[in-house]
Amino acid sequence: MSVNYAAGLSPYADKGKCGLPEIFDPSDELERKIHELASLIRNSSYVVFHTGAGISTASGIPDFRGPNGVWTMEERGLAPKFDTTFENARPSKTHMALLELQRKGVLRFLVSQNVDGLHVRSGFPRDKLAELHGNMFVEECMKCGKQYIRDTVVGTMGLKPTGRLCDVSKRRGLRSCRGKLTDTILDWEDSLPDQDLNLASEACRSNPAATSLC
Ligand SMILES: [Zn+2]
Repeated sequence: MSVNYAAGLSPYADKGKCGLPEIFDPSDELERKIHELASLIRNSSYVVFHTGAGISTASGIPDFRGPNGVWTMEERGLAPKFDTTFENARPSKTHMALLELQRKGVLRFLVSQNVDGLHVRSGFPRDKLAELHGNMFVEECMKCGKQYIRDTVVGTMGLKPTGRLCDVSKRRGLRSCRGKLTDTILDWEDSLPDQDLNLASEACRSNPAATSLC
């Protein structure tokens, strides 16, 4: 599927400021910021990261409003250009750095607005991750809530039926659930998913010494 995920959602009127330039810090400023971030992490007992579209642009997935964002190109009357598909996109260095921090026990929880599934595909544990806007590779049973992670994108957006049915067996030997599966991708007006939102809130609020980093 094309990575133009915006094209699969309802029209959105207020697109805000598009096409702001990407800022590249001089190397000494970058060095200073890295030390500041390392110090914040070192001095925190419960680290939560929040990620958004910017960490996936290096994987070839465009954002909305960046220099080559989908809406920026649209505003200029140009067709957005895509170098990849969701299936072929690979996690960026940022995804892998976050995974390493989690494996070392430094990063305790990750909250993401990204739907590209790259955190899960990098190997990040799903029970330490809240995907607030859904995941292109996940479909969910409307009846029993079971989620399925697929190798390819599930094919619909906006919490619509994907055409497949749940095959969870209720009890050994008995017939399966057969509930309808839907995608997990929110459209603009949809509420955030309760479970992921609660996990994210708990992670950010439960520990008074929590540090949230974006
Ligand atoms: Zn089910």
